[in-house]
Amino acid sequence: MHRSRRLASSLHDLRHAAAHLPDAIVLLDRHQRVRWFNHAAESLLGLRRPHDRGVFLQARLHGTELADWLQGGAAEPLSDVSAPGQPSRHINLTLLPFGHQQRLLLARDISHLTRLEQIRRDFVANVSHELRTPLTVIHGYLELLDPEDVPALAPVLGEMRTQSKRMGQIVEDLLTLSRLETQDRVVDERVPMAPLLATLRKEAEALSQGRHRVTLDDRAHVDLLGSPKDLHSALSNLVSNAVRYTPTDGTIAIRWELAPDGSAIYSVSDTGFGIPADHLSRLTERFYRVSSSRSRESGGTGLGLSIVKHVLNLHQAQLEIRSTPGQGSTFACRFGHARVLPAEEPESGPLEP
Ligand code: ADP
Repeated sequence: MHRSRRLASSLHDLRHAAAHLPDAIVLLDRHQRVRWFNHAAESLLGLRRPHDRGVFLQARLHGTELADWLQGGAAEPLSDVSAPGQPSRHINLTLLPFGHQQRLLLARDISHLTRLEQIRRDFVANVSHELRTPLTVIHGYLELLDPEDVPALAPVLGEMRTQSKRMGQIVEDLLTLSRLETQDRVVDERVPMAPLLATLRKEAEALSQGRHRVTLDDRAHVDLLGSPKDLHSALSNLVSNAVRYTPTDGTIAIRWELAPDGSAIYSVSDTGFGIPADHLSRLTERFYRVSSSRSRESGGTGLGLSIVKHVLNLHQAQLEIRSTPGQGSTFACRFGHARVLPAEEPESGPLEP
């Protein structure tokens, strides 16, 4: 008697605790029908007591991203979606196996986190924007000063020019990143790859100034679907890194090839300094550098690979990095076949008489 009262009391406490958790909990039977849900599930998912007990959850949430996710099997958690019927409320969802073929749907309100993230993004964009004009003015005046007029100050002037140019580049890169972060899709235009690859090669040669051997191997002969400007910026960042992190006499190989599954791979390999394995996973973070001095000396802003990652994400493409310290690195961008277009035949000119 005493034991069963204790058990009943524990059960009551547990139910009470679960009912008042700030995260939404929905218990689903093996047919995805709602068996039980807590208070937070009412406010976050819009479920109503008592008539939502026993309903088929997917049908109940019909027309929302959640229903599509449930229908697709919900194997992976769903991040940052609008709560049903509340567009400004953001939630994360997870579906966990529970008991005998039952499932537990967990939803967490992340609106405050997304708001903080938005404030951070706006702050970076505003600061960068505010710095742009004063920097342009300083840079303009520095360009006007002729070192020959003040020979004693020539080295100082040179350093000031270099640094103001660097600051300008950081501001431009931060603005590019802010723009990419607020975009969730790109304009889909044909990006003719043959001329783009030729331009990338020329850019590498100009930056290298004869210090490296630059090769281009276009085996794919296909074009891409996406934003020409953003893709140029991302692909050229990889070329510029290869040149900047490869000592004189090294080789930079640009390749464009098709994989057996129909995806297209753009890669840049170098015979440069390479990157130790423990840094690889962090390279695309803003301002992450393996060696700060090497990055600064070579004119880096520490933002190049973040830009590359954002551009690739917008094109549903992946960045793969392989590197051996002391031997070199390969940065490869893999574009899914939905982004690959057969190259257009070059327009034939008028026939010679
Ligand atoms: P940065 O402007 O410093 O080059 P990136 O975001 O382009 O910034 O790159 C981040 C860091 O990754 C660099 O500072 C450098 O340490 C490393 N890195 C990038 N590309 C290469 C490469 N091809 N070879 C060796 N290290 C590289």
